Amino acid sequence: MTKKLAVVLLLAAVAFSASFVSAQTVDSGKFVLYKYQKKMGVENYSVKMSGDSLELNARFELSFIGGSFGLDTALTYDGDTLAPQRFVTKGKTSTRTTVDAAVTVAEQIATVRTSYGSTTEKVPGKFFTAFHPAPISVQNMLLRYWAKNGKPKDIPLLPGGTARIKYLGKTKVKRNGKTESLARYSIEGVMWGQEIVWVDKDLNLIALVAADAEMDRFEAIREGYGSNLKLFAEVAGKDSVKKLERLSKHISPIHSGSYAIIGAKLIGGKDFNTILDSVIVIRNGRFAAVGKRGKIKIPKGMKVFNASGKTILPGLFDMHAHATQPEWFPASLAAGITTMRDAANEIEFIVPVRDGEEKGSITVSPRLLLAGYIDSGPSSVGSMKAETEKEALEIVRTYRNAGFQQIKIYQSLREELIEVVTKEAHRLGMTVTGHIPRSINIYDAVDKGYDQVNHLGFVMRVMSPRVMKEGEKRNFDPDSDQAKAGFKFLKDSGLVVEPTMARAENSVKALDDDFIATEPGIEKAPFEFRALITSMGMPAEVAARRQRGGEFAKSVLKALHEAGVPLIVGTDLVVPGHTQFRELELFVEAGISPVDAIKSATIVPARAMKLDKKLGTIEVGKIADLVIVDGDPDSSISEIRKTKFVIKDGKMFESAPLWESVGFRP
Ligand SMILES: [Zn+2]
Repeated sequence: MTKKLAVVLLLAAVAFSASFVSAQTVDSGKFVLYKYQKKMGVENYSVKMSGDSLELNARFELSFIGGSFGLDTALTYDGDTLAPQRFVTKGKTSTRTTVDAAVTVAEQIATVRTSYGSTTEKVPGKFFTAFHPAPISVQNMLLRYWAKNGKPKDIPLLPGGTARIKYLGKTKVKRNGKTESLARYSIEGVMWGQEIVWVDKDLNLIALVAADAEMDRFEAIREGYGSNLKLFAEVAGKDSVKKLERLSKHISPIHSGSYAIIGAKLIGGKDFNTILDSVIVIRNGRFAAVGKRGKIKIPKGMKVFNASGKTILPGLFDMHAHATQPEWFPASLAAGITTMRDAANEIEFIVPVRDGEEKGSITVSPRLLLAGYIDSGPSSVGSMKAETEKEALEIVRTYRNAGFQQIKIYQSLREELIEVVTKEAHRLGMTVTGHIPRSINIYDAVDKGYDQVNHLGFVMRVMSPRVMKEGEKRNFDPDSDQAKAGFKFLKDSGLVVEPTMARAENSVKALDDDFIATEPGIEKAPFEFRALITSMGMPAEVAARRQRGGEFAKSVLKALHEAGVPLIVGTDLVVPGHTQFRELELFVEAGISPVDAIKSATIVPARAMKLDKKLGTIEVGKIADLVIVDGDPDSSISEIRKTKFVIKDGKMFESAPLWESVGFRP
């Protein structure tokens, strides 16, 4: 029997067990797709004979209220070697990403077409085709190809990138009351970062846990295995911790214990003062002495790090992370982020990482503050949703028991539950941030107990009267008395605003806009990350209209700042680390001084999270968190992009190896 025939017969045997199979179809299956463990769609695929080849057809479809959209993919491959011959993928891989790509291979020459253009290249000896993490069945074929072709260390991908597959272990799952043992692998290079996949003994992919094309936490589970959703999420969370612990052993701090840093311009000392030619003495993770050179005694024999010509800032806070892949943590630390508030994630993923960071087995991560999301109804953002008071209280307590500092309200939360949540959170010593549900406005949100608001868009309403008359138009003039009264209301209430300017800038991009013009960091990202980011965007006409709103938003931001409303820097995804830089640039473009922008990423969030006794400035007794920049962000805020060293808990890391560890060029 030829090998090819054996494969066909094996696949045919598998196919006979399926309930509905056409004459030519040799395999078919269905994956249920989840975001944050909430069902969001399905992928159906089938494999049929096509001469000597096999053809996989997959429809990956996300369904929301009021519609659905999807991605259609066809992959033709050699029935014997499983080598791809033709790959066509077109449609949407997430709510924000659009794909139209094709690869045709003939006589070892590949013609590759993407939205960036066409190329012709000689194919490497071994290669596979994949573009974006969807569809799941193509990743299954990548795994089969790898297993069939000697499990090579690297598999070059077309249109680009390199896949790496590693065996991680076994997981026992339940199906129809029986226990099955699945093999677990990590795949890197299709999606940026680590994807965890499980396969059965015939290499059928059973589950995948990772992030999706818009970088939300994502699960795909083969029909029949859905009862194992939590288990898959938990095991993937543990694998993320293992990866971060491995990186932590690999990337050692270049200084720790007791040492001094001399010669830098220091911004953010006591009272946020600036010290030229400074001396900072660090002992056991704390600042032991800070001052001007000549005034501070450096103990004899102490290690000295010369930072002349550089600028030192307190460690930065990113107040809006959704670290949905382990790689976000080292990338954020590389950018000088020493404290990160995760503003909605899966407990199974973020809590074990937070615990690893706290106990010190993970060093290549910022310290983590956690905000747990809560939402209601069919359009809820994930599975943590409450329809009743009892459910709302349970969710708040679940987060509290898991050590979360904060609750984040999403915009579908039922109006009658808002105060249930804020009161219980406050009673348990937590604060509340969030989007503002459609049923109320920002005045109500303040009255109902919000401590913070995410996204400037929710704040705009404050420029209009609290109660508006029938047919009255909203006020959009930040210089008007009406707006000033609104800003004063916010200032007096103590509400903290996290505007996410960079995220807004990114989300109104047109598909063919040059992303590098506003975010040069994209050039340093690996292929698979660029492929996702550059596939986000809206039609040019819509984008042009929405982009005009960007300048207006800056004028509101400046007015809020001048009115004394505390502003804090948060990224909300986009480009790991770099979006922190972009957010600071946008604060300064709005007319806020570089030092005030830096305060919004240091002492202001420290205060907002009641951590200003420990963090936020470079002062004796505080935790030794700081950033060393090879330039002066005070003279030009973009110099912050030249962050070269970061100290967290007194441990000094070089940024370069942190970046490289997650596939970015430093
Ligand atoms: Zn968010």
